[in-house]
Amino acid sequence: MQMINVVQQDAVKTWFYTEDGDKRGYIQPHALKELWFHTGTACNLSCDFCLEGSGPADKRIELIKLDEVKPFMDEAITLGVEQFSFTGGEPFIARQMVKVLEYAANLRPCLVLTNATEPLQQRTKQLQVLQHCKHPVSFRVSLDHPNAAEHDAGRGEGTFLQALQGMRLLQAQGFHLSVARQMQPDEDSLSVEAQYREVFRQHGLDEDLHMVAFPDFLTPGASADVPDVSENCMTTYQTADSRRQFMCSFSKMIVKKRGRLAVYSCTLVDDDEDYDQGTSLSAALKDRVSMKHHRCFSCFSYGSSCSEL
Ligand code: SF4
Repeated sequence: MQMINVVQQDAVKTWFYTEDGDKRGYIQPHALKELWFHTGTACNLSCDFCLEGSGPADKRIELIKLDEVKPFMDEAITLGVEQFSFTGGEPFIARQMVKVLEYAANLRPCLVLTNATEPLQQRTKQLQVLQHCKHPVSFRVSLDHPNAAEHDAGRGEGTFLQALQGMRLLQAQGFHLSVARQMQPDEDSLSVEAQYREVFRQHGLDEDLHMVAFPDFLTPGASADVPDVSENCMTTYQTADSRRQFMCSFSKMIVKKRGRLAVYSCTLVDDDEDYDQGTSLSAALKDRVSMKHHRCFSCFSYGSSCSEL
């Protein structure tokens, strides 16, 4: 018993303090504007850089079903949520994904992150039902690089053209699109984005598509050699306004592990059980989120965010 207490005390200390004894930076949530759902880590692709460690047989995070997610959506509505967003894995591996989206899009606008390859393309007809919902469904497609060779080296031969084909199918159905791309630390962002716009033009897509750039977040459970974010860092280099822009200030994510759905602090920390905040959104909103995870440094340093709000 005493042993358990020591372990628990150590966990609490690690949550609040860095190894050097500094108080960790934290975010006090101010609202629930966006509620994310992790649809599961199953994916048709197996990219070795995937921050979720997703792949065809992966069950680290389990596939969601409509009946399980409804209560969270309904609670989120009472808390004033503005959008439901979905990430995987590949969301269209989940058998009930279209039903889930139909329910969600009759409550609020939705955003789905997808690789736009086979699982989505096989269900193009089913997606038509989403055009009759009260609110729009938007899709953010992963296109890691603006050229096929580099994209395919990470995702598999032919996936660059497949993703562009999926984007054309979605655009033809009238869905709003954006793109998730990878970001290199030393890149010339304007030049990279110009290359993407040329690709969009060549492939019959709207050249003004919004792009969201992400650094390398490493795979689940990896440790990274990045500085701790202390309370002093968060007050010296951030303001009250900028702290409100951190995802964990205005969003949560629902994650299903071992048959249980739980509220996590954001979309980037589902590999650390310290970020499991229980099963009530309203209770989770009251707790400070400690910046203990190595990915918190990306939020602090690059302003990384999965949100388009
Ligand atoms: S990864 Fe970013 S959004 Fe998530 S808890 Fe850390 S600081 Fe907040």
